[in-house]
Amino acid sequence: MSYRYVGPAEISAAVRPGSEGRAIGSPGDLGAWVTERGEAEAREPYTFVVDLDGRLRLAPRRSEHVACAGGRPVLAAGEIAFGRTSGRWSTHEISNQSTGYCPDLGSWHAVARALEDAGVGHGGRFTHEVVFRRCEACQECSVVREDDFVCVFCGSDLPVEWNVDS
Ligand SMILES: [Zn+2]
Repeated sequence: MSYRYVGPAEISAAVRPGSEGRAIGSPGDLGAWVTERGEAEAREPYTFVVDLDGRLRLAPRRSEHVACAGGRPVLAAGEIAFGRTSGRWSTHEISNQSTGYCPDLGSWHAVARALEDAGVGHGGRFTHEVVFRRCEACQECSVVREDDFVCVFCGSDLPVEWNVDS
């Protein structure tokens, strides 16, 4: 499934043509990106999206996901850090942390495919999982902490199933 942008309108309104993150289709693409950004920054998470064509796109850390996606829906969004062992790139940390898209944990499958297409190793799941739900009482998007499905804004119960896009 794809996720549309659900964050503040003023952020998506500020997205300009050509804002898309760098498409990463091979270990060489990733190596070039890391070299340009500097090896030290590679240990901090970058902003990433998986675009509608299933491609991994990277932007500098703290970039807005909606800018990295060129304002379009995504298959996945979050933060990602890489490491290299024996010359092979793999993910060191990866999460679905994106308050712009609030993606479900099932977005992992699109992430895994995009990483495999790019020849980047991964650990089979997000290292940090964020559970997003929209409160049906007050409409705010909440992050569920420690399996406590209660809206932090109004105290109402949150649904068990992902519902942010509904
Ligand atoms: Zn609420």
